[in-house]
Amino acid sequence: MANRCFPTLKFSLFFFVTQITLSVSHGDMLVSKQAVTHFDPLWSGSEHKYLGDEAVLQVCRELSLDPCPIARIPRKDKKYYFEYGLLVALGDFYMSAEEIYNDQGKDLTAYELDQIFSCIDEQGKILLKQKEFPHLDLPNCKWVYGLSGNQLKLVRNNYDHFGWNNMRAYVEYHQKAIELAFEAHLARRRGPQDASEDLFAQALIYNGFADHFLTDAFSAGHIRVPRRQLKDWADQNYGIAGKGKGDLLGLMFHDSEGFSWDRNELGLRVGNSRGDQWTTHTDNSLFSGNTEEQFVQLPIRAVAISIREVLSAYYFGNKKVGEFEAIEYVPFSVESSFAQKYLTDFGPTKDVARWLRGVLAFPTNLILTNRNVVKLLEELPQVMERFRADIRADIVHKSELVNRLPRVYVESYQEID
Ligand SMILES: [Zn+2]
Repeated sequence: MANRCFPTLKFSLFFFVTQITLSVSHGDMLVSKQAVTHFDPLWSGSEHKYLGDEAVLQVCRELSLDPCPIARIPRKDKKYYFEYGLLVALGDFYMSAEEIYNDQGKDLTAYELDQIFSCIDEQGKILLKQKEFPHLDLPNCKWVYGLSGNQLKLVRNNYDHFGWNNMRAYVEYHQKAIELAFEAHLARRRGPQDASEDLFAQALIYNGFADHFLTDAFSAGHIRVPRRQLKDWADQNYGIAGKGKGDLLGLMFHDSEGFSWDRNELGLRVGNSRGDQWTTHTDNSLFSGNTEEQFVQLPIRAVAISIREVLSAYYFGNKKVGEFEAIEYVPFSVESSFAQKYLTDFGPTKDVARWLRGVLAFPTNLILTNRNVVKLLEELPQVMERFRADIRADIVHKSELVNRLPRVYVESYQEID
């Protein structure tokens, strides 16, 4: 048994990796209140899967597609088939949709994928029970993260899972998915059918990957944390190990957004471009209490619309122009300023720094000191200014992105503070 006071280097590294992995990664679209109290975030691919699968049912019902053509989706080598919901969960295991489609068992073997998916299935069973018994804990699937050789790289570069950037990733992959579905439509008319089916499968894999970022966007810890700017700031201000500390800052805020001072999960008040207003919750709380119908139904609707735009290109040759409709559902914060909350509203800076660091497990809490966090908090308004400046630069230079985003969403992020 490992000595908790003097862990081995291997244990420390495992702990360090899993700690960052589980929270910063996207990770845990949901942690039960009890788990949070013990700072033991759980991985929850089951929530991505649930939202993806429900969306497939919804869209196939609406379009009277029976059988639903999204049940088993082959990758390029046809040696592995995916359900759509599982593809939505895979965004935490691959760097790109191309990697998923082209993988021949190199990034993740069939056995490893089976292990990941069987753990997601086990979580999924408890997730459904949480509708009736909200305080049941999801099974701990931390260990499956170790299966991906790229996991540390994935976690340390997971900017795309956080606000604004997740819509950049969604737009990029949803756009590619529609293009592929359109090519599949043309190939279907020209023949041979095999070529069309391959392109359609590729389109669905790309869209499943896109929908990972779409579903992440509904989780309270992913909405206004300036993940990339925190890391850049840490790199410039902490000196040695600055980037690693920057990753921990991201984790710390990810695990603190939506929580009260006494660590009760309250969620974050949000709105969207359609005018809906609701409380969105943290990773691992899809059904574990505090939830209102919109928190579950809006992301399902968004994914259903996302799939429908791909099916429309495939069946009818309709390539969506202008805004991608799913983003109309994506939330932005309507609460008071992020910087103000942690810099002044929550209490004296030293106390807030200690509170924030409370989510870091040993030994990561030794790496990021109280002084480190106090320094960051004092400069948080400047970090948010950097976030806004980066968004403004995207608006000026990425017209293809901005054309796809609802105006209200863009305006909201332009003013994030
Ligand atoms: Zn994610």
